[in-house]
Amino acid sequence: MSRAKLLCLGGCREVGRSAYLLSLENRNFLLDYGVLLDDVPLFPSHVSPSSVDAMLLTHPHLDHSGLVPFLFSSKVTPRAYSTRLCAEILEYLVLDMMKLSGNFLPYEVEELYKAVDGIRPLGYGEEVEVGGIAIRALNAGHVPGSCMFLLRSKGFKALYTGDFNSIETRLVNPVDLESVLSECPIDLLIVESTYGDRPHEDRALTEKSFVESVVDCVEGGGVVLVPAFAYGRAQEILCVLYKYASDLTVYLDGMAKQISLELLSFKDFLRSEDLYEEALEFARFVRGPRDRKRLLKEGGVVVSPSGMLKGGPSAFYAKRLADRSDSAIFLVSYQIPDTPGDCLLKHGKLAPDSEKVKCDVKWFDFSSHAGRIELLDFITKVVDRSEGRTKVVLVHGEERAVTSLEEALRSEGVEVLAPKNGELLVL
Ligand SMILES: [Zn+2]
Ligand SMILES: [Zn+2]
Repeated sequence: MSRAKLLCLGGCREVGRSAYLLSLENRNFLLDYGVLLDDVPLFPSHVSPSSVDAMLLTHPHLDHSGLVPFLFSSKVTPRAYSTRLCAEILEYLVLDMMKLSGNFLPYEVEELYKAVDGIRPLGYGEEVEVGGIAIRALNAGHVPGSCMFLLRSKGFKALYTGDFNSIETRLVNPVDLESVLSECPIDLLIVESTYGDRPHEDRALTEKSFVESVVDCVEGGGVVLVPAFAYGRAQEILCVLYKYASDLTVYLDGMAKQISLELLSFKDFLRSEDLYEEALEFARFVRGPRDRKRLLKEGGVVVSPSGMLKGGPSAFYAKRLADRSDSAIFLVSYQIPDTPGDCLLKHGKLAPDSEKVKCDVKWFDFSSHAGRIELLDFITKVVDRSEGRTKVVLVHGEERAVTSLEEALRSEGVEVLAPKNGELLVL
């Protein structure tokens, strides 16, 4: 049996530009192909599309997918697999990135459409074979349609988790741990470590305090802005608000509207079709400037991208609400340093040189990633420690998250590696 190799092209000791080339039996599998979004996007190391036998896309967040269209820019294109929903959402998210960063990207919109059409859909639990290697997609519980990939060659199994979540959220079921455990023992576990150093607050408590804060503000006549990613978080927030406070007036704005409607065609990927449909019916879609003006006057809740106030209608609302002491901005996702959302949380201002805001500002932990406790639980359940059979490779985490998780796993007797970008692991 030839040994497995893992070339770390990006996404090591950082969150962004996830791309790992896994070689099994002389076949090359590209696990995700993302970008790190900054003023100028950063890319993973180059890989020739013709050398890739198959690209496996866990989900279309740009840190996993931003370079996927590049694979479709030459004559010989690799096979590509993901769920059908992920391929559809890829179009929205990449087009949105192209508006800001199009000049820096090594592909055109034509290649994006080739990618969307070229991705072969895999359902959860479904298996395909590429060059004698069996590939199976399993629910990762991160966003609707997100998956993990299990690769099986003669006597060797590898699991790449992508981003995953093991707690139940309103929108999606948690990671399919049962199927993962049915595949054990696994020889190679490539696992995300975003929250390797931080546990999450109990989700039920987060939901409760969030809804109470929203209701308080709206009852006082104010407007609550909930900046949220268009795919996943916006819909999760709608479901939470509908479940606990269905008498509120809730608006949805920006790209979250189209993506929410798109999800209606993929209800199999949702935890509860009924809750989702009802939550979507309960939301009022903002259709233009007149609606925006009216809701700012009449009060209510508005859920809108971008999640970090870096553009989209949420940036518009934030500017209008900043001076209103009756209103609030409730952030519900991780804020990348130096984004307006991060500045607001740290300094109470929308920009370093602006005035302090008068509205209420709070942050609620609605993360869709496993926290430290869930990561340790998942990894220790999956690894086979006999003769160090399972090698664990930590990716997709900032330095301190990776190091903290690495130490905890080592003290449990787990064989763990925390590679740097560019490293080649021979396993
Ligand atoms: Zn993600
Ligand atoms: Zn990610």
